[in-house]
Amino acid sequence: MKFTDLNPKREIGAHSLLIELGAFRLLVDGGMSPKDLGLASLPDYTRIPSDSIDLIILTHCHLDHIGSLPCVHRSQPSARVLMTPASGEILPVMLQNSYTVMLKQRDEKKVEEYPLFSRPEVDAVLGDFFPMYFGRTREFLKEGDRLKVTFYPSGHVMGAAAVLLEHQGKKYFFTGDILFRRQHTLGGAEIPSMKVDTLVTETTRGLAEHGKDFVYEEELARLLASIAKTIGEGGSCLLPVFALGRMQEIITLVHEGRKRGILPGGFPIYCSGLGLAVVDVFEKIMRNRKKYAVDYGAQDPIRPPVRQDLGHHLAPSAEWGFRKRILSALNVRPLPRSRIKVGIDIRRPSLFIVSSGMLVENTPAYQVAASLLPFKHNLIAFTGYCDPDTPGGQLLTKSPGDPFLFEALEFETVVRARVEHYDASGHADREDLLYMAKAMEPSTVILSHGDGDSRRWFEGAIRLALPAANVVNPEPQETYEV
Ligand SMILES: [Zn+2]
Ligand SMILES: [Zn+2]
Repeated sequence: MKFTDLNPKREIGAHSLLIELGAFRLLVDGGMSPKDLGLASLPDYTRIPSDSIDLIILTHCHLDHIGSLPCVHRSQPSARVLMTPASGEILPVMLQNSYTVMLKQRDEKKVEEYPLFSRPEVDAVLGDFFPMYFGRTREFLKEGDRLKVTFYPSGHVMGAAAVLLEHQGKKYFFTGDILFRRQHTLGGAEIPSMKVDTLVTETTRGLAEHGKDFVYEEELARLLASIAKTIGEGGSCLLPVFALGRMQEIITLVHEGRKRGILPGGFPIYCSGLGLAVVDVFEKIMRNRKKYAVDYGAQDPIRPPVRQDLGHHLAPSAEWGFRKRILSALNVRPLPRSRIKVGIDIRRPSLFIVSSGMLVENTPAYQVAASLLPFKHNLIAFTGYCDPDTPGGQLLTKSPGDPFLFEALEFETVVRARVEHYDASGHADREDLLYMAKAMEPSTVILSHGDGDSRRWFEGAIRLALPAANVVNPEPQETYEV
Protein backbone atom coordinates (compact mmCIF):
# COMPACT_ATOMS: atom_id res chain seq x y z
CA MET A 1 0.00 0.00 0.00
CA LYS A 2 1.15 3.49 -0.80
CA PHE A 3 0.05 5.98 1.83
CA THR A 4 0.10 9.78 1.61
CA ASP A 5 -1.28 12.06 4.32
CA LEU A 6 -2.63 15.02 2.33
CA ASN A 7 -3.13 17.20 5.42
CA PRO A 8 -0.43 19.86 4.93
CA LYS A 9 0.09 20.15 8.70
CA ARG A 10 0.77 17.51 11.32
CA GLU A 11 -2.41 18.18 13.26
CA ILE A 12 -6.11 17.52 13.36
CA GLY A 13 -7.79 19.52 10.65
CA ALA A 14 -7.80 18.95 6.93
CA HIS A 15 -7.86 15.17 7.29
CA SER A 16 -7.47 13.29 4.01
CA LEU A 17 -5.43 10.19 3.16
CA LEU A 18 -4.50 9.08 -0.35
CA ILE A 19 -4.28 5.29 -0.53
CA GLU A 20 -2.93 3.34 -3.49
CA LEU A 21 -3.52 -0.40 -3.49
CA GLY A 22 -2.72 -2.26 -6.74
CA ALA A 23 -4.97 -0.83 -9.44
CA PHE A 24 -7.02 1.15 -6.92
CA ARG A 25 -6.64 4.75 -5.85
CA LEU A 26 -8.72 5.80 -2.86
CA LEU A 27 -9.23 8.77 -0.67
CA VAL A 28 -10.11 8.30 2.97
CA ASP A 29 -11.94 11.49 4.00
CA GLY A 30 -11.78 14.98 2.54
CA GLY A 31 -11.69 17.39 5.45
CA MET A 32 -11.20 21.07 6.08
CA SER A 33 -9.22 22.73 8.84
CA PRO A 34 -11.58 24.67 11.14
CA LYS A 35 -8.97 27.25 12.11
CA ASP A 36 -7.72 28.20 8.65
CA LEU A 37 -9.48 30.19 5.97
CA GLY A 38 -9.82 29.82 2.22
CA LEU A 39 -7.53 27.53 0.24
CA ALA A 40 -5.21 27.23 3.27
CA SER A 41 -7.90 25.15 4.99
CA LEU A 42 -7.77 22.38 2.35
CA PRO A 43 -5.77 19.17 2.11
CA ASP A 44 -3.18 19.16 -0.69
CA TYR A 45 -5.34 17.89 -3.55
CA THR A 46 -2.99 19.29 -6.18
CA ARG A 47 -1.16 15.97 -6.48
CA ILE A 48 -4.33 14.10 -7.43
CA PRO A 49 -4.77 14.00 -11.22
CA SER A 50 -8.34 14.50 -12.40
CA ASP A 51 -10.44 11.38 -12.83
CA SER A 52 -7.89 9.19 -11.05
CA ILE A 53 -9.74 8.26 -7.84
CA ASP A 54 -11.94 5.15 -7.74
CA LEU A 55 -13.38 5.37 -4.24
CA ILE A 56 -13.80 8.15 -1.72
CA ILE A 57 -14.35 6.65 1.71
CA LEU A 58 -15.94 8.91 4.31
CA THR A 59 -15.53 7.81 7.91
CA HIS A 60 -17.97 10.38 9.38
CA CYS A 61 -19.42 13.85 8.98
CA HIS A 62 -17.34 16.19 11.13
CA LEU A 63 -16.00 18.97 8.93
CA ASP A 64 -12.39 17.98 9.51
CA HIS A 65 -13.33 14.83 7.55
CA ILE A 66 -15.83 16.04 4.93
CA GLY A 67 -15.46 19.85 4.71
CA SER A 68 -13.58 19.87 1.39
CA LEU A 69 -15.23 16.85 -0.18
CA PRO A 70 -17.08 18.75 -2.95
CA CYS A 71 -13.76 20.40 -3.94
CA VAL A 72 -12.02 17.10 -4.64
CA HIS A 73 -15.13 15.34 -5.90
CA ARG A 74 -15.68 17.79 -8.75
CA SER A 75 -12.57 16.56 -10.59
CA GLN A 76 -13.21 12.86 -9.86
CA PRO A 77 -16.23 11.89 -11.97
CA SER A 78 -15.56 8.13 -11.66
CA ALA A 79 -15.28 8.11 -7.88
CA ARG A 80 -17.95 6.45 -5.81
CA VAL A 81 -18.47 7.99 -2.40
CA LEU A 82 -18.70 5.31 0.29
CA MET A 83 -20.35 6.15 3.60
CA THR A 84 -22.94 4.77 5.97
CA PRO A 85 -26.62 5.55 5.26
CA ALA A 86 -26.70 7.68 8.46
CA SER A 87 -23.73 9.73 7.24
CA GLY A 88 -25.55 10.10 3.92
CA GLU A 89 -28.31 11.97 5.79
CA ILE A 90 -26.00 14.10 7.93
CA LEU A 91 -23.54 15.09 5.18
CA PRO A 92 -25.76 17.55 3.25
CA VAL A 93 -26.78 19.35 6.47
CA MET A 94 -23.14 19.86 7.44
CA LEU A 95 -21.95 20.89 3.97
CA GLN A 96 -24.87 23.23 3.26
CA ASN A 97 -24.17 24.94 6.57
CA SER A 98 -20.48 25.18 5.69
CA TYR A 99 -21.46 26.80 2.38
CA THR A 100 -23.55 29.43 4.22
CA VAL A 101 -20.70 30.13 6.66
CA MET A 102 -18.26 30.60 3.74
CA LEU A 103 -20.60 33.11 2.09
CA LYS A 104 -20.63 35.10 5.33
CA GLN A 105 -16.87 34.92 5.70
CA ARG A 106 -16.36 36.08 2.12
CA ASP A 107 -17.99 39.36 3.08
CA GLU A 108 -16.81 39.68 6.67
CA LYS A 109 -13.24 38.51 6.25
CA LYS A 110 -12.73 39.32 2.58
CA VAL A 111 -11.85 35.74 1.63
CA GLU A 112 -12.27 36.12 -2.11
CA GLU A 113 -12.08 32.42 -2.98
CA TYR A 114 -15.15 31.65 -0.80
CA PRO A 115 -17.36 29.75 -1.22
CA LEU A 116 -15.02 26.88 -2.16
CA PHE A 117 -17.95 24.88 -3.53
CA SER A 118 -21.54 25.41 -4.59
CA ARG A 119 -24.82 23.91 -3.43
CA PRO A 120 -25.20 21.81 -6.64
CA GLU A 121 -21.70 20.41 -5.96
CA VAL A 122 -22.95 19.14 -2.60
CA ASP A 123 -25.84 17.45 -4.41
CA ALA A 124 -23.37 15.97 -6.89
CA VAL A 125 -21.49 14.27 -4.03
CA LEU A 126 -24.76 12.62 -3.00
CA GLY A 127 -25.32 11.55 -6.61
CA ASP A 128 -22.29 9.24 -6.27
CA PHE A 129 -23.25 8.02 -2.78
CA PHE A 130 -22.62 4.30 -2.31
CA PRO A 131 -24.18 3.16 1.00
CA MET A 132 -22.08 0.96 3.27
CA TYR A 133 -23.80 -1.05 5.99
CA PHE A 134 -21.86 -2.03 9.09
CA GLY A 135 -20.30 -5.45 8.84
CA ARG A 136 -21.35 -6.01 5.21
CA THR A 137 -18.29 -6.45 2.99
CA ARG A 138 -18.42 -5.01 -0.53
CA GLU A 139 -16.06 -6.08 -3.26
CA PHE A 140 -14.77 -3.78 -6.00
CA LEU A 141 -13.10 -4.89 -9.22
CA LYS A 142 -10.73 -2.95 -11.45
CA GLU A 143 -8.48 -4.21 -14.23
CA GLY A 144 -8.61 -7.74 -12.78
CA ASP A 145 -7.70 -6.46 -9.32
CA ARG A 146 -10.02 -6.94 -6.30
CA LEU A 147 -10.53 -4.81 -3.25
CA LYS A 148 -12.80 -5.62 -0.32
CA VAL A 149 -14.16 -2.88 1.91
CA THR A 150 -15.94 -3.36 5.25
CA PHE A 151 -17.25 -0.66 7.60
CA TYR A 152 -17.59 -1.15 11.37
CA PRO A 153 -19.15 1.20 13.94
CA SER A 154 -16.47 3.41 15.46
CA GLY A 155 -18.69 5.07 18.11
CA HIS A 156 -17.66 8.77 18.15
CA VAL A 157 -20.71 10.23 16.31
CA MET A 158 -23.80 8.93 14.55
CA GLY A 159 -22.87 7.11 11.33
CA ALA A 160 -19.15 7.03 12.11
CA ALA A 161 -17.20 4.09 10.75
CA ALA A 162 -13.84 2.41 11.04
CA VAL A 163 -12.81 0.83 7.76
CA LEU A 164 -11.16 -2.44 6.80
CA LEU A 165 -9.57 -2.77 3.36
CA GLU A 166 -8.54 -6.23 2.11
CA HIS A 167 -6.29 -6.50 -0.89
CA GLN A 168 -4.21 -9.46 -2.12
CA GLY A 169 -4.47 -11.28 1.19
CA LYS A 170 -3.48 -8.26 3.29
CA LYS A 171 -5.62 -6.35 5.77
CA TYR A 172 -5.44 -2.58 6.28
CA PHE A 173 -7.49 -1.08 9.09
CA PHE A 174 -8.36 2.60 9.50
CA THR A 175 -9.80 3.63 12.88
CA GLY A 176 -11.30 6.92 11.67
CA ASP A 177 -12.27 8.91 14.77
CA ILE A 178 -13.06 6.22 17.29
CA LEU A 179 -14.57 5.89 20.77
CA PHE A 180 -15.00 2.56 22.54
CA ARG A 181 -16.97 3.97 25.45
CA ARG A 182 -20.75 4.01 25.15
CA GLN A 183 -22.42 7.44 25.01
CA HIS A 184 -25.99 8.37 25.91
CA THR A 185 -26.75 9.01 22.25
CA LEU A 186 -24.64 6.29 20.65
CA GLY A 187 -23.11 2.88 21.30
CA GLY A 188 -19.34 2.41 21.42
CA ALA A 189 -17.08 1.05 18.68
CA GLU A 190 -17.87 -2.49 17.54
CA ILE A 191 -14.68 -3.81 16.00
CA PRO A 192 -14.38 -7.58 15.66
CA SER A 193 -11.17 -9.09 17.03
CA MET A 194 -8.86 -9.56 14.08
CA LYS A 195 -5.23 -9.47 13.12
CA VAL A 196 -4.30 -6.86 10.53
CA ASP A 197 -1.16 -6.09 8.56
CA THR A 198 -1.40 -2.31 8.75
CA LEU A 199 -3.20 -0.19 11.32
CA VAL A 200 -3.82 3.49 10.56
CA THR A 201 -4.86 5.03 13.85
CA GLU A 202 -6.12 8.39 15.02
CA THR A 203 -3.99 9.92 17.80
CA THR A 204 -6.15 12.78 19.09
CA ARG A 205 -5.65 12.07 22.78
CA GLY A 206 -1.98 11.15 23.01
CA LEU A 207 -1.44 13.86 25.61
CA ALA A 208 -4.54 13.17 27.71
CA GLU A 209 -3.47 11.22 30.75
CA HIS A 210 -6.00 9.67 33.08
CA GLY A 211 -5.18 8.38 36.52
CA LYS A 212 -6.37 4.85 37.27
CA ASP A 213 -9.20 6.25 39.37
CA PHE A 214 -10.58 8.50 36.60
CA VAL A 215 -14.31 7.87 36.22
CA TYR A 216 -15.89 9.46 33.19
CA GLU A 217 -19.31 9.79 34.82
CA GLU A 218 -17.81 11.59 37.80
CA GLU A 219 -16.35 14.13 35.40
CA LEU A 220 -19.88 14.68 34.02
CA ALA A 221 -21.27 14.96 37.57
CA ARG A 222 -18.67 17.66 38.33
CA LEU A 223 -19.74 19.52 35.19
CA LEU A 224 -23.42 19.40 36.19
CA ALA A 225 -22.54 20.58 39.70
CA SER A 226 -20.60 23.53 38.28
CA ILE A 227 -23.54 24.48 36.03
CA ALA A 228 -25.95 24.24 39.00
CA LYS A 229 -23.67 26.41 41.15
CA THR A 230 -23.36 29.07 38.42
CA ILE A 231 -27.09 29.25 37.75
CA GLY A 232 -27.78 29.26 41.51
CA GLU A 233 -25.52 32.29 41.90
CA GLY A 234 -27.26 34.17 39.11
CA GLY A 235 -24.69 33.53 36.37
CA SER A 236 -24.89 32.04 32.90
CA CYS A 237 -23.01 29.06 31.46
CA LEU A 238 -21.50 28.51 28.04
CA LEU A 239 -20.67 24.99 26.90
CA PRO A 240 -18.91 25.25 23.53
CA VAL A 241 -19.61 22.01 21.63
CA PHE A 242 -19.42 20.47 18.18
CA ALA A 243 -22.85 20.75 16.58
CA LEU A 244 -22.72 17.12 15.46
CA GLY A 245 -22.70 14.63 18.31
CA ARG A 246 -21.37 16.50 21.34
CA MET A 247 -24.28 18.93 21.42
CA GLN A 248 -26.91 16.19 21.50
CA GLU A 249 -24.87 14.25 24.07
CA ILE A 250 -24.60 17.27 26.39
CA ILE A 251 -28.32 18.06 26.00
CA THR A 252 -29.07 14.48 27.07
CA LEU A 253 -26.77 14.89 30.05
CA VAL A 254 -28.52 18.11 31.08
CA HIS A 255 -31.86 16.33 30.75
CA GLU A 256 -30.55 13.54 33.00
CA GLY A 257 -29.34 16.20 35.47
CA ARG A 258 -32.77 17.81 35.61
CA LYS A 259 -34.55 14.49 36.03
CA ARG A 260 -32.31 13.63 38.95
CA GLY A 261 -32.65 17.03 40.57
CA ILE A 262 -28.92 17.82 40.16
CA LEU A 263 -29.84 20.81 38.00
CA PRO A 264 -32.61 23.24 38.92
CA GLY A 265 -35.40 23.91 36.43
CA GLY A 266 -36.59 27.24 35.19
CA PHE A 267 -33.56 28.61 33.34
CA PRO A 268 -33.58 28.87 29.54
CA ILE A 269 -31.36 26.64 27.40
CA TYR A 270 -30.16 27.88 24.01
CA CYS A 271 -28.64 25.85 21.17
CA SER A 272 -27.16 26.91 17.83
CA GLY A 273 -28.97 26.39 14.54
CA LEU A 274 -26.71 23.74 13.04
CA GLY A 275 -26.98 21.58 16.16
CA LEU A 276 -30.77 21.83 16.00
CA ALA A 277 -30.74 20.90 12.30
CA VAL A 278 -28.66 17.85 13.20
CA VAL A 279 -31.29 16.95 15.82
CA ASP A 280 -33.88 16.70 13.03
CA VAL A 281 -31.65 14.27 11.14
CA PHE A 282 -31.06 12.21 14.29
CA GLU A 283 -34.81 12.05 14.80
CA LYS A 284 -35.28 10.72 11.26
CA ILE A 285 -32.56 8.10 11.77
CA MET A 286 -33.89 7.06 15.19
CA ARG A 287 -37.42 6.63 13.81
CA ASN A 288 -36.03 4.34 11.12
CA ARG A 289 -33.26 2.54 13.01
CA LYS A 290 -33.74 -0.60 10.94
CA LYS A 291 -33.55 1.16 7.60
CA TYR A 292 -30.38 3.00 8.59
CA ALA A 293 -28.98 -0.16 10.19
CA VAL A 294 -27.32 1.80 12.97
CA ASP A 295 -27.48 -1.11 15.42
CA TYR A 296 -24.67 -3.54 14.83
CA GLY A 297 -23.03 -5.83 17.33
CA ALA A 298 -19.71 -7.37 16.34
CA GLN A 299 -19.03 -10.97 17.27
CA ASP A 300 -16.10 -11.20 19.67
CA PRO A 301 -15.51 -7.43 19.63
CA ILE A 302 -12.35 -5.68 20.81
CA ARG A 303 -13.27 -4.33 24.24
CA PRO A 304 -10.62 -2.33 26.07
CA PRO A 305 -10.94 -2.85 29.84
CA VAL A 306 -13.81 -0.74 31.16
CA ARG A 307 -12.42 1.89 33.48
CA GLN A 308 -15.64 3.74 34.06
CA ASP A 309 -18.00 2.84 36.85
CA LEU A 310 -21.07 1.62 35.00
CA GLY A 311 -23.07 1.70 38.21
CA HIS A 312 -22.86 5.50 38.26
CA HIS A 313 -26.19 7.28 37.96
CA LEU A 314 -24.95 9.22 34.91
CA ALA A 315 -23.75 6.12 33.03
CA PRO A 316 -25.53 5.70 29.69
CA SER A 317 -27.81 2.70 29.42
CA ALA A 318 -27.43 0.10 26.69
CA GLU A 319 -30.48 1.67 25.03
CA TRP A 320 -28.79 4.57 23.35
CA GLY A 321 -30.49 7.18 21.20
CA PHE A 322 -31.49 10.79 20.85
CA ARG A 323 -35.09 11.86 20.37
CA LYS A 324 -36.28 15.33 19.56
CA ARG A 325 -38.86 15.35 22.35
CA ILE A 326 -36.02 15.92 24.81
CA LEU A 327 -35.76 19.48 23.38
CA SER A 328 -39.35 20.28 24.30
CA ALA A 329 -38.94 18.61 27.70
CA LEU A 330 -36.07 21.02 28.37
CA ASN A 331 -37.68 23.90 26.50
CA VAL A 332 -34.57 24.33 24.33
CA ARG A 333 -34.64 27.43 22.11
CA PRO A 334 -32.58 28.58 19.15
CA LEU A 335 -29.88 31.08 20.10
CA PRO A 336 -31.10 34.69 19.67
CA ARG A 337 -27.80 35.93 18.20
CA SER A 338 -28.94 39.51 17.77
CA ARG A 339 -29.61 39.77 21.52
CA ILE A 340 -26.11 38.62 22.53
CA LYS A 341 -23.93 41.72 22.92
CA VAL A 342 -20.17 41.90 23.19
CA GLY A 343 -19.07 42.73 26.75
CA ILE A 344 -22.65 43.00 28.03
CA ASP A 345 -23.78 40.33 30.48
CA ILE A 346 -26.84 38.15 29.92
CA ARG A 347 -29.54 39.42 32.27
CA ARG A 348 -31.31 36.15 32.99
CA PRO A 349 -29.23 33.13 34.05
CA SER A 350 -29.09 30.89 30.98
CA LEU A 351 -27.33 27.82 29.62
CA PHE A 352 -25.81 28.05 26.14
CA ILE A 353 -24.92 24.75 24.44
CA VAL A 354 -23.61 26.14 21.16
CA SER A 355 -20.93 25.54 18.52
CA SER A 356 -18.06 25.73 17.88
CA GLY A 357 -16.41 23.44 20.39
CA MET A 358 -13.09 25.24 19.98
CA LEU A 359 -14.60 28.73 20.12
CA VAL A 360 -13.62 29.39 16.51
CA GLU A 361 -14.00 33.06 15.58
CA ASN A 362 -17.45 34.41 14.74
CA THR A 363 -19.26 31.23 15.72
CA PRO A 364 -22.19 31.43 18.19
CA ALA A 365 -19.93 30.15 21.01
CA TYR A 366 -17.35 32.87 20.28
CA GLN A 367 -20.04 35.52 20.43
CA VAL A 368 -21.55 34.21 23.70
CA ALA A 369 -18.06 33.95 25.24
CA ALA A 370 -17.48 37.64 24.47
CA SER A 371 -20.60 38.40 26.47
CA LEU A 372 -19.90 36.13 29.47
CA LEU A 373 -16.14 36.27 29.97
CA PRO A 374 -15.88 39.71 31.68
CA PHE A 375 -18.21 38.74 34.57
CA LYS A 376 -17.11 36.53 37.42
CA HIS A 377 -20.46 34.85 38.14
CA ASN A 378 -20.43 33.23 34.67
CA LEU A 379 -18.97 29.89 33.56
CA ILE A 380 -17.35 28.78 30.31
CA ALA A 381 -16.88 25.00 30.36
CA PHE A 382 -15.13 23.11 27.57
CA THR A 383 -15.88 19.41 27.27
CA GLY A 384 -13.78 18.30 24.32
CA TYR A 385 -10.55 18.76 22.45
CA CYS A 386 -9.40 22.33 21.66
CA ASP A 387 -6.62 22.95 19.17
CA PRO A 388 -4.03 25.14 20.95
CA ASP A 389 -4.16 27.72 18.12
CA THR A 390 -7.92 28.30 18.34
CA PRO A 391 -9.48 30.93 20.64
CA GLY A 392 -10.75 28.07 22.86
CA GLY A 393 -7.27 26.58 23.13
CA GLN A 394 -5.85 30.02 23.96
CA LEU A 395 -8.52 30.80 26.55
CA LEU A 396 -7.74 27.54 28.36
CA THR A 397 -4.16 28.73 28.97
CA LYS A 398 -5.34 31.93 30.70
CA SER A 399 -5.69 32.54 34.43
CA PRO A 400 -8.25 34.75 36.17
CA GLY A 401 -7.25 38.40 35.69
CA ASP A 402 -5.35 37.78 32.43
CA PRO A 403 -6.33 39.88 29.41
CA PHE A 404 -8.05 38.05 26.56
CA LEU A 405 -8.53 39.45 23.08
CA PHE A 406 -11.55 38.56 20.93
CA GLU A 407 -9.67 39.54 17.81
CA ALA A 408 -12.53 39.16 15.34
CA LEU A 409 -14.68 41.42 17.49
CA GLU A 410 -11.86 43.87 18.30
CA PHE A 411 -12.76 43.41 21.95
CA GLU A 412 -10.26 42.92 24.76
CA THR A 413 -11.39 41.97 28.25
CA VAL A 414 -10.07 40.53 31.48
CA VAL A 415 -10.81 36.87 32.23
CA ARG A 416 -13.24 36.99 35.14
CA ALA A 417 -15.71 34.19 34.38
CA ARG A 418 -14.66 30.69 35.51
CA VAL A 419 -13.06 28.86 32.59
CA GLU A 420 -13.06 25.10 33.11
CA HIS A 421 -12.23 22.00 31.15
CA TYR A 422 -13.97 18.66 31.56
CA ASP A 423 -12.71 15.51 29.97
CA ALA A 424 -15.78 14.33 28.08
CA SER A 425 -14.13 13.76 24.73
CA GLY A 426 -15.68 11.81 21.86
CA HIS A 427 -12.29 10.22 21.15
CA ALA A 428 -10.81 7.05 22.62
CA ASP A 429 -8.38 7.27 25.51
CA ARG A 430 -4.82 6.59 24.44
CA GLU A 431 -4.78 3.42 26.56
CA ASP A 432 -7.79 2.09 24.64
CA LEU A 433 -6.08 2.73 21.31
CA LEU A 434 -2.96 0.95 22.55
CA TYR A 435 -5.12 -1.98 23.66
CA MET A 436 -6.64 -2.14 20.17
CA ALA A 437 -3.21 -1.93 18.52
CA LYS A 438 -1.94 -4.82 20.64
CA ALA A 439 -5.05 -6.90 19.88
CA MET A 440 -4.61 -6.40 16.12
CA GLU A 441 -0.87 -7.26 16.08
CA PRO A 442 -0.12 -5.12 13.02
CA SER A 443 3.32 -5.25 11.43
CA THR A 444 2.95 -1.56 10.50
CA VAL A 445 1.23 1.22 12.45
CA ILE A 446 0.66 4.59 10.75
CA LEU A 447 -0.16 7.58 12.96
CA SER A 448 -2.67 10.16 11.79
CA HIS A 449 -5.20 12.74 13.03
CA GLY A 450 -3.30 14.19 15.99
CA ASP A 451 -0.95 16.99 16.97
CA GLY A 452 2.81 16.46 16.81
CA ASP A 453 3.23 15.82 20.55
CA SER A 454 0.30 13.40 20.64
CA ARG A 455 1.78 11.43 17.77
CA ARG A 456 5.16 11.34 19.49
CA TRP A 457 3.56 9.80 22.60
CA PHE A 458 1.93 7.11 20.47
CA GLU A 459 5.13 6.53 18.55
CA GLY A 460 6.99 5.73 21.79
CA ALA A 461 4.15 3.78 23.39
CA ILE A 462 3.50 1.60 20.34
CA ARG A 463 7.21 0.87 19.91
CA LEU A 464 7.23 -0.41 23.51
CA ALA A 465 3.98 -2.36 23.17
CA LEU A 466 4.73 -3.84 19.73
CA PRO A 467 8.53 -3.96 19.44
CA ALA A 468 8.43 -5.79 16.09
CA ALA A 469 6.08 -3.28 14.44
CA ASN A 470 7.20 -0.60 12.04
CA VAL A 471 5.75 2.68 13.40
CA VAL A 472 5.32 5.44 10.81
CA ASN A 473 4.76 9.03 11.91
CA PRO A 474 4.34 10.34 8.38
CA GLU A 475 5.60 13.67 7.14
CA PRO A 476 2.71 15.61 5.62
CA GLN A 477 2.34 15.11 1.86
CA GLU A 478 5.06 12.43 1.67
CA THR A 479 4.33 9.02 0.21
CA TYR A 480 5.21 5.88 2.17
CA GLU A 481 5.13 2.33 0.90
CA VAL A 482 4.16 -0.23 3.52
ZN1 LIG B 1 -14.81 13.47 14.36
ZN1 LIG C 1 -11.68 14.26 13.37
